[in-house]
Amino acid sequence: MEDIEKIRAEYPILDRMIYGRPLVYLDNTATSQTPDCVVNSIVSGYTQTKANVHRGVHTLSMEATELQESARRRVKDFINAPSTEEIIFTRGTTESINLVAAAYGGAFLRDGDEIILSVMEHHSNIVPWQLLQRRADIRIRVIPIREDGSLDMDEYRALFNEHTRFVSVCHASNVLGTVNPVKEIVAEAHAHGIPVLIDGAQAAPHLKIDVQDIDADFYAFSAHKMYGPAGVGVLYGKRKLLEIMPPYQGGGEMIESVSFEKTTYAELPYKFEAGTPDFIGIAAFHQAINYMERLGIEKIAAHEHELLEYTTRRMLDEIPGMRIFGTAPGKCAIISFLVDGEHHYDMGMLLDKLGIAVRTGHHCAQPLMTALGIEGTVRASFAVYNTKEECDRFLTALRRVSEMLR
Ligand code: PLP
Repeated sequence: MEDIEKIRAEYPILDRMIYGRPLVYLDNTATSQTPDCVVNSIVSGYTQTKANVHRGVHTLSMEATELQESARRRVKDFINAPSTEEIIFTRGTTESINLVAAAYGGAFLRDGDEIILSVMEHHSNIVPWQLLQRRADIRIRVIPIREDGSLDMDEYRALFNEHTRFVSVCHASNVLGTVNPVKEIVAEAHAHGIPVLIDGAQAAPHLKIDVQDIDADFYAFSAHKMYGPAGVGVLYGKRKLLEIMPPYQGGGEMIESVSFEKTTYAELPYKFEAGTPDFIGIAAFHQAINYMERLGIEKIAAHEHELLEYTTRRMLDEIPGMRIFGTAPGKCAIISFLVDGEHHYDMGMLLDKLGIAVRTGHHCAQPLMTALGIEGTVRASFAVYNTKEECDRFLTALRRVSEMLR
C-alpha cells in the first residue's frame, strides 16, 4: 500500500505499547480500528451538531437530520441500492438479521416451513432463526462445506424442496475467510421463488458490494468492521419485501399517527427505525465509507491479500504442525489456525504478552467448529494499516510461542 505510514498516522491506537512492545493488531475481523477522520466526525457530532433527528425545526436538529440522511444516500450509493427507502440503519449486522428473522420470518414462516443456512454461519445468522422456532415449527437445513472451506453448492441445490421458504448465508466467513458465490446462491434460490438474506459483515470491509448485481433480497453489514463506529449497521432490503413486512420494533420515529385505537406506520425506511438512532455514529459511518473509497476498496483488498499470502506461506513453511482452516481460492485476509498439540487459548494469551492481538476460540461459529471437529482456533486477520513488518513480528512471536508450548 502506498503511503502506509500516512495511513497509520491516522490511527493513534497503533502507537500503543502492550507489555512494553509495540501493538500488532491482527484482530480486524472482530473489529477494525478507527481513523482520525471518523473519530473527528464523532467529536464534531457531539460538540457541534448534537440534536435529535427528524423532530425539530431548529437549526441543530435540521443539521443533524441532514447528516444522517446524507449518510443514508452515501450507503445507498456504496452498495448500489436502488433507493434510500431500502436502507435501514440498525445497530449492526446482528440487529439487521434479527429484524428480518422477526419481521419477515414472524409474518411469513409457518409450521413445516424450511429455511437454508450454511454450516459456516456466525451465531448471529443462526440464533435469530432459532428464536423463530419458538413461534413456529420451522426446520433449519444446513449447507455443508468442502475440504477447502468452500460451500458445497451441489448439496445446497439438493436442499430445496416444496417446504423451503428462505435462504440466509454469509457473503464471507469470519473463520475460514471463504468468499461465497452469492450471486449463484441467490440465483438458485430465486429459481425456486425463495428470498435470500446475505450476511455481509465480513465482505463489506473488503469487497465492492453491489446489491443489485447480487440480486440479494436483504443484505446486512456493520460499520465497526469498516473503520467506522460501533453500534451502527445497515439492513438493505428490497422495497417490495420491506413493504409487506410488519414493523420490527414499535416506538417513536416509526409511526405516521398514533391513537389508542389505531396506529399507522411511517413510510420506508422509518417504519423499521423505531427510537432515536445513533445519528452521530451514522454520520461518522459516512466518513468511514468516504475513507474506504478514498483509499480504494480494490487497493485495500490487494494490500490485505499480499499480507495474507506472505504470512500464510511463512506460517506453513516455518511453524511445524501448522494447520490452516480455510484455503478456498480468493478468500478474505483471515487466517484461522492451530498448531498440533497446542491450545488456541494458550497461544493467544502468550502472543498478547508479545504485543500481538489475535482472537482465539470458536469465533461465534460453534456449529462450524463442530463440523471441523475442533473447539476453536487462533485467528489473525488483516486491515489496510497492517504492514509486512507487523507480519514478521507476528511470525517471530508465533515461532517463539509455539516452541514454548511444545
Ligand atoms: N456475521 C458475521 C459473518 C460476522 O463476522 C459478525 C461479527 O463478527 C457478525 C455477523 C455480527 O456482527 P455484529 O456483532 O457487528 O452485529
